[in-house]
Amino acid sequence: MDSGKTSRHIDSNTALYGLVGRPLAHTLGPRMHNAAFAAVGLNALYLAFETRDIAGAVTGARALNLQGLSVTLPYKTSVMEFLDQVDEMARKIGAVNTIARRGDLLVGFNTDAYGALKALETCLDPGALRGMPCLIVGAGGAARALGFTLARNQAALAVSNRSRERGERLAKELDCPFLAEQEAWEFGADLLVNATPVGMHPLADTCPVPDHVLRKGLVVMDLVYNPRDTLLLQKARARGCRTVSGLDMFIFQGAEQFRLWTGLEPPLEVMKTAVLEAIKP
Ligand code: NAP
Repeated sequence: MDSGKTSRHIDSNTALYGLVGRPLAHTLGPRMHNAAFAAVGLNALYLAFETRDIAGAVTGARALNLQGLSVTLPYKTSVMEFLDQVDEMARKIGAVNTIARRGDLLVGFNTDAYGALKALETCLDPGALRGMPCLIVGAGGAARALGFTLARNQAALAVSNRSRERGERLAKELDCPFLAEQEAWEFGADLLVNATPVGMHPLADTCPVPDHVLRKGLVVMDLVYNPRDTLLLQKARARGCRTVSGLDMFIFQGAEQFRLWTGLEPPLEVMKTAVLEAIKP
């Protein structure tokens, strides 16, 4: 059975949710969230809105009484000025990936940070991050979400990034060192996170770090989830590293969106199955 199908009926009481961003042709959100709504018996529908005007999209969401939105590239930062409130963590990160209706207000949240932490907990014991040397490769929105989460969990962070200026800015905010490439590979991280699109389709045959960095025992997390098993994760496993997949982070961040929107416990297994079915070759 295709758990992503919306077999329930739609009527005048159907609550509408959606995703704003562009391009959205390959997004997994509608499959994951509609499966979740169906599983808990909610009369709700989640659609992908290919968005050309983020200010207009938020105005439309208010006017049409949408109950919640996911926000993806390129609007995670620019959407913030159009919201009534932005929660503290999302403000720190500087990006909103979730909008939830609270009465008449539209409130912004960032569930990427939560999703990243939950994904890490599939591999690390709670508390293990404290004092752990962690290298984040990248300094964009995802790196920021991860960086503030790891900082809150008292990890010993370092940031490396292609463009020095952006990397140094994030390192300063996180109160940690910025490391240029060579130094980064010699940092001695116990957790290495790829927060760049290197390894993502159509660059699936590329790897963001040299092989010699991938030593036995290292925990390697790749935020890229398309493909699911990136070249970095394959190489890391082959060299005895423990790995954390970007797909787990995606599912956990979606589950937290579901919780913020509905106040209900997310049906995690259903969401996971829907996503895995959607990406089956
Ligand atoms: P972003 O804001 O555009 O930032 C991209 C970062 O990657 C920047 O630091 C950029 O460096 C660096 N970068 C881009 N191309 C590069 C290249 N060819 N070589 C080296 N560095 C490069 O993007 P983002 O939102 O942070 O997303 C980053 C990745 O995380 C994407 O693959 C996205 O799909 C993934 N992601 C996954 C989840 C999940 O749930 N698993 C959630 C969010 C994002 P410069 O500063 O030099 O441009």
